[in-house]
Amino acid sequence: MPICYIHGINYTTEDILEKMREEIITAIISIPELGLNEDMVSVFFPADQRYIMNEGVSITIMGLYDKPERTEEVRNILARNVGKTIETWLPGIQIECLIFPFIPAQGFWCSQDELRCTHCRHEIAWTMSTTVILPTECNGEIEVIGYPCQTCGTLHEKDGKPIMKDGKPVTLKDVI
Ligand SMILES: [Zn+2]
Repeated sequence: MPICYIHGINYTTEDILEKMREEIITAIISIPELGLNEDMVSVFFPADQRYIMNEGVSITIMGLYDKPERTEEVRNILARNVGKTIETWLPGIQIECLIFPFIPAQGFWCSQDELRCTHCRHEIAWTMSTTVILPTECNGEIEVIGYPCQTCGTLHEKDGKPIMKDGKPVTLKDVI
């Protein structure tokens, strides 16, 4: 998911930053080839005192997944649209926008991923729960609360780990 950092806007009000943020998000999601929606884009204005007003604005867009439809031309349109958006606020100031495409093989982790179904990656129904009885090593039994995947029924513990029994993940079908 793209993360947009805008360096060099040294001091302004929160209201203006919020308006800029909205306009930048609109500039990004209005490029159909990117296939992004509002929830997928983050915009940050790092407070960095080394930059002072009138010395130029530097925009970096990180985390743009590398996809075939995100061609060089599309990426240039993205850089231009975001740069132009800032330019309407700060005419005459030198602005540059750099795009950093990303492939997950470079290293990637996302907290939300861990809380999805470990079997099919769909959402877990956290409002539904069921009790699963598992054997312990010393021939006893323990009760575990399982939360099912909405799609495949695989049961997960509250930290997102699948519940395993005899080396296999337990699903709703196994307990009902
Ligand atoms: Zn699932």
